Amino acid sequence: MVNGEDKAVLVVGSYAQDLVWNSKTFPAPGETLVGKFRTGPGGKGSNQAVAAARVSNGTKVMFCGCVGDDLFGTGARDFQAKQGIDVRVKVHPTIPTGTAGILVNDEGQNSIVVALGSNLELKSEDVSDDMLQSAGIIVMQHEIDPAVNEAVLSRARALGVTTVLNPAPMAPISETTLASVDILAPNETEFATMLQQRGIEVNVDLSKDPIEQVTTAIAEASAALPVRTVVVTLGSRGVCVYDKEAMDTPIFIPAFHVHCVDSTGAGDAFIGGFATKFVENGGDVVDAAKFGNATAALSVTKEGTAPAMPTRGEVEDMLQ
Ligand code: ADP
Repeated sequence: MVNGEDKAVLVVGSYAQDLVWNSKTFPAPGETLVGKFRTGPGGKGSNQAVAAARVSNGTKVMFCGCVGDDLFGTGARDFQAKQGIDVRVKVHPTIPTGTAGILVNDEGQNSIVVALGSNLELKSEDVSDDMLQSAGIIVMQHEIDPAVNEAVLSRARALGVTTVLNPAPMAPISETTLASVDILAPNETEFATMLQQRGIEVNVDLSKDPIEQVTTAIAEASAALPVRTVVVTLGSRGVCVYDKEAMDTPIFIPAFHVHCVDSTGAGDAFIGGFATKFVENGGDVVDAAKFGNATAALSVTKEGTAPAMPTRGEVEDMLQ
């Protein structure tokens, strides 16, 4: 409950159809190989909305994005609706739905071509004031036009909605965008790259050095960022949460020990779980991060991205 009424999670971002081919080797230029194929729903925005909806205990989850007028676009909306998402998707008449063509060889290496397609046609005005006003939190990523992130985050901020930016995949962030972000939620690599782009070197290896050094480095580096809260995910180590106004030092939440089968989409699972719990608990970032940590740990125990997102019951069992 926020402001005395039920608020929703609003995810604004991308949908991409994952098209995955497995073959023994990668085809050389001009070569044709015989292999196996599978397809599935992807895109960071959609994955995060799916994670948020699956762990929801009644909190509404809305997804706003743009798909094409094609089979992938229809499939996307059907899939999202089946997950319980309130689908607020624009259908572009001519530009195709976003796709990711993924080649995987027998060594598990991949080569990927992403075509963002219709995702780049989402405009700020497609995210209505009604959607923003009904949200307790808005979550955005980097797979749509950066100008839309800038405009929508600024409108959300003006309406008092808590804004989350998951800066993935890494791309330069404008100062205007950052000024509208309440919670910045990168992974360790994105965090270090973001700081480098601002001329700040993080002299600690966030993925290897002792966690005390990592939290100190995150605290120091966060001082240079104009956001109140920084949530840095550290892969199989866990997550570090730092609310600069409420905490003296960052809080480290260790990852759950699980058998990792496929870590793709772990970051998206974390963000989805975090967002839903944040709305449910009235804005407690540490509690939300603990919930996201469990959601993400469960997601890596299964293959795939969106279909690997856990249910509410599974997350609650894990947290007991
Ligand atoms: P991304 O997928 O964006 O690179 P991370 O790799 O940092 O994000 O993972 C996000 C979160 O997923 C971590 O903070 C952690 O909670 C969880 N996680 C990732 N890998 C594992 C793992 N092997 N075991 C348990 N939890 C994991």
